[in-house]
Amino acid sequence: MPDLAHGKYLRTVASCGGDEVPFLVSIVRPTMPDRVQAQPSVLKRIGSAKKELTRSAVHPLRGNQRAMKGHAAVGPIEGIVLDAVGTLIEPHPPVAEAYAQAAERQGVTLETTVVRARFREFFRRDETSDQLGSLETNEVVEYQRWRRIVTSVLAEVPDPEQAFRELWQYFGTSEAWRCFGDVVPLLDSLRAEGLSVCIASNFDSRLRNVVSGLSELRPLSEQVVISSEVGYRKPHPAFYEAVETLCGIPAEKLLSVGDDVENDVLGALRSGLRGVWLDRGGNGQGENPPRIADLGGVLSLLKN
Ligand SMILES: [Mg+2]
Repeated sequence: MPDLAHGKYLRTVASCGGDEVPFLVSIVRPTMPDRVQAQPSVLKRIGSAKKELTRSAVHPLRGNQRAMKGHAAVGPIEGIVLDAVGTLIEPHPPVAEAYAQAAERQGVTLETTVVRARFREFFRRDETSDQLGSLETNEVVEYQRWRRIVTSVLAEVPDPEQAFRELWQYFGTSEAWRCFGDVVPLLDSLRAEGLSVCIASNFDSRLRNVVSGLSELRPLSEQVVISSEVGYRKPHPAFYEAVETLCGIPAEKLLSVGDDVENDVLGALRSGLRGVWLDRGGNGQGENPPRIADLGGVLSLLKN
């Protein structure tokens, strides 16, 4: 049994889409007994500690249960913080098809399976590099990130820079994206409940055009927090401070929902929010943070 006393550190690993991400976890007691703080670090796994932490410390219901039992320290959830890509929206057609079409325009035929594998690899590399860095960002950083990824994925086309410029422009339009089917029912229900909602995304200013161009999300156009505008990417605490400021709601009354365990859940928890992992692909296993299979699960959380 690990020592969960205040100030102790434990090593653990969270799974994200099949990839394991190591963390150094500091236990915060007794003022916040249900919460942990974690810092990304290259450390080894301690299975029993992870099980204990993900079951008891990283649980989105804990705050609700405490509130219902009359504990004033946490209170009910007043706002929902929704990640964008993979949570509210997805590329349509899929990224690999859009990239393959860009290659085709230059006379190069690529299998979408090959493009998909390359994209995942280069995107993952970039994400991992970010996690170990300062997480500082801006419009130029994001532009260069995507330039790097696209020109790596489509390295054999005659003019990779042209392919990048086309895809950068394309993914900045709402035509490149669609909402998941469970978005509208969730937003309607949250609105009926009088809950505050915001979109919080590691993206650049193009997201504003995408959000305002999708009828389902247009009502949230003023409720968007974007990393390039904040100056920090999730899971940096400064990003979540910006979320708290925009919502005008204390962190402990916000529930972060997203498809990335580190960025959307553990990062939110470290900043004092509550968090739940949206595992649309059903990739999670027993030792992951608590998860929901679709956005309908948010409503179930709020009711229970
Ligand atoms: Mg996402």
